[in-house]
Amino acid sequence: MITAENVDLSNCDREQIQYAGAILPHGVLATASESDWTVLQASVNCGEMLGVPAEDLLGQSIGRLFSAAQWSIVTERFARLHSAGLPSYLLRATLHDTLFDVFAHRYDGVVIFEFEKCTEEADESFQLQKDIHEALTTLQGASSLQTFLDSAVAQIRRFTGFDRVMAYKFMPDGTGWVRSESLAEDGDFAPFLGLHYPASDVPLPARRLFSLTWLRHQPDIDYTPVPITPATNPVTGKSLDLSCAQLRSVSLMYTGYLKNMGTRSSMVLSLMKTGKIWGLIACHHHRAPKHVPYRERMACEFVAHMVSLLISAKEDLDVSEYRVRLKTTERLLVENFSREYDVSTALLQRSPTALEFVNAGGAAVVVEGRVTSRGQTPAQERILQITKWLSLSIDREVFATDTLAGCMPEWANCKDVASGLLALRFARNRNDYVLWFRPEQIQNVNWAGDPQKPVDISSDGQRLMPRTSFALWKETVRLKSEPWSEMEIEAVSQLRSSILELVLRKADEIGKLYDNLERSHAQLDTFAYVASHDLKEPLRGISNYAEMLLEDYSEALDEEGFGRLQTISRLARRMDDLLDSLLEYSRVGRVDFADLEVDMNVVVTEAVDTLKLRIAERKVTIRVPKRLPSVRGDQIHLRELLTNLISNAVKYNDREEPFVEIGVSPDLGADEVVLYVRDNGIGIREAHLEQIFQIFRRLHARNEYGGGAGAGLTIAKKIVERHGGRIWVDSVSGQGTTFWFSLPTVKTA
Ligand code: ADP
Repeated sequence: MITAENVDLSNCDREQIQYAGAILPHGVLATASESDWTVLQASVNCGEMLGVPAEDLLGQSIGRLFSAAQWSIVTERFARLHSAGLPSYLLRATLHDTLFDVFAHRYDGVVIFEFEKCTEEADESFQLQKDIHEALTTLQGASSLQTFLDSAVAQIRRFTGFDRVMAYKFMPDGTGWVRSESLAEDGDFAPFLGLHYPASDVPLPARRLFSLTWLRHQPDIDYTPVPITPATNPVTGKSLDLSCAQLRSVSLMYTGYLKNMGTRSSMVLSLMKTGKIWGLIACHHHRAPKHVPYRERMACEFVAHMVSLLISAKEDLDVSEYRVRLKTTERLLVENFSREYDVSTALLQRSPTALEFVNAGGAAVVVEGRVTSRGQTPAQERILQITKWLSLSIDREVFATDTLAGCMPEWANCKDVASGLLALRFARNRNDYVLWFRPEQIQNVNWAGDPQKPVDISSDGQRLMPRTSFALWKETVRLKSEPWSEMEIEAVSQLRSSILELVLRKADEIGKLYDNLERSHAQLDTFAYVASHDLKEPLRGISNYAEMLLEDYSEALDEEGFGRLQTISRLARRMDDLLDSLLEYSRVGRVDFADLEVDMNVVVTEAVDTLKLRIAERKVTIRVPKRLPSVRGDQIHLRELLTNLISNAVKYNDREEPFVEIGVSPDLGADEVVLYVRDNGIGIREAHLEQIFQIFRRLHARNEYGGGAGAGLTIAKKIVERHGGRIWVDSVSGQGTTFWFSLPTVKTA
């Protein structure tokens, strides 16, 4: 069995600290049998403090130490005690000219009496009550866990006057973290706030006792333990179990540890959360030993109880505050998204950014292989590797890991910024991601002292600052970030749904607009048809009458009148041409198109055939360098398209050796083919490239190059678009023009 006798650094985790066999020297401890009050064991300072040597007391009634009046209070109060448990205060009594606070508790088959030396204080109970009341009100009103702990440590320092009071939280891995600290202003004490301690600093046996008793106090660390005689409890035949005794002598490991911190006196309060130890309030006095009397300890204990009761609520407060922040940021991000269609801009350039959403060191958005990032992130190539890996290996839309190196060992080299990853994919069929990165947790931890530093060695050669578990801890947290909480993962999923909902809504709106536009187009086509059709009738009249006048009344007119009549006739013909073009244009918009397999070689031959007179006249060479593919579409309209384009290519050419080439672009898409009609003609100036597809827009006078009405390309565009394709033009003025257009391919089943 490991006890105070044989403990060292290697075995302190198994030390049976409850069997200390000794007590702190500021009091006396004696055990008695409950049946007849016979003293069974006593600390050896009995004689010096109570005037009855231990050996005289053993076997006698413990009542002997008290006056008759005091003894009747003791027995009466003791009768009201619960069966077993923590020490209860019985009375304050002067024994052997010394003032003692007397406590008793049933434990280990005996009644343990503790006599704690105290000094007469002024009756400040009213002030103390007021202080406690004030402390409770402040604690209850605290709006976050931090302010709550800050006010708890400040109150306890006010009650006790310790140089340092800290709230210390046990982390899930057993390490400790100083969450809050109150320091005396008049001392020059190094702050411990924010420091982390390895788990070994509070060994397991100590932790067990922390959950048993609320408060432990060592007025003077530099004490000499007072042995208990006899060493064995006659009832159990074993060393007396001092688990709950206030005067229990503490582990040598512990006092050594405190001494190394420059502590002269300490008091430790347990903070419990739903029956489990959550942390501690640790009080250190550095300047001198310090005895905190019972009444003040009670006030502190009361505060510790209160803190324990409220801690869940205050922690929940922090969680709910984070939850509110996540919700608000999500709303704002989605709002930005609704105004800004570019994902990267919406999520990383506008305020708030995605980096202000979940707690992370860096964030990145990857859209179509383009990376935008903010904060601490890996390099672009690494981010792309990660998204590629995600798209291949992860089926979920939201993915979280606290060890990226566990996914791909070579990624360990970016642990400083990316040990943790939270990834959101927008849609299953797209590899667009939003990523959040967290650094390796160890980077964020401030260790108390340098854990690598050799430990202090006491005079007897014993190591007194246990740090061995640090290496272990470092190994368990290596390449790991702080884990992502359920709440964070949920918030990211929610962000994804909100964004998708928005995208769907936008798509819906665009769809509606498109429908409206189509309807307007159709109406416009009908209007163009009706207008041009109906206008042709009176126009024909005007034209006929003008012709008649020219034929029958030419002699009655002078030269000027004749000229004007010729102009009327010419304009009427011109208008007729325009109306024909408009009619043709509206017809292309209204009629149904066939959706059949069309051999483009046949279409080209037909078009060339239609234009053969003009081609022969201009001595134009027609080239088709490669066999053309088949497409899906409407043969008659495709012929019209090719005729328009080839006719222009022939028309707008004044070369000695004009040619027109019809070919297919080498990069074949899965769904469409791109064909072209190229000439070595006059070309089009860049400034005009945009305009040529507009209706009735001509770049040349009507009679130059034998131009037409200016509707040819407009109709060509409409035909291509009705096939679901696009048409565009490349041209160098003076050298030639190429018209490109895409058409749907024939799917091979
Ligand atoms: P048009 O009936 O006048 O030919 P289009 O709509 O077919 O009308 O063409 C519009 C204008 O684009 C033409 O007036 C001409 O100036 C220019 N254009 C069309 N095709 C070519 C080409 N292959 N080379 C140079 N200019 C061209």
